[in-house]
Amino acid sequence: MRHSSEIRARQPLHYTLDALHALPCGCVAAVYRTQPLDTELLSLEARGPHCIYSQHQPGRVLGLSNQDSDRLSR
Ligand SMILES: [Zn+2]
Repeated sequence: MRHSSEIRARQPLHYTLDALHALPCGCVAAVYRTQPLDTELLSLEARGPHCIYSQHQPGRVLGLSNQDSDRLSR
């Protein structure tokens, strides 16, 4: 791994891991709190072996969860 200096500039916001959620499909999503926006961001951390949602890819942002964190439960 030789290109180490280019990756750091790509984080304009500060992310703090707030919680982990197991989704009904078997995936695990993480809730990050972003500063200074004070917004919660849902990101998929691990894809479940039986997940049927093609949009559930590891590292993908699923959306913002400002106050209602139940948007993912379907
Ligand atoms: Zn899934």
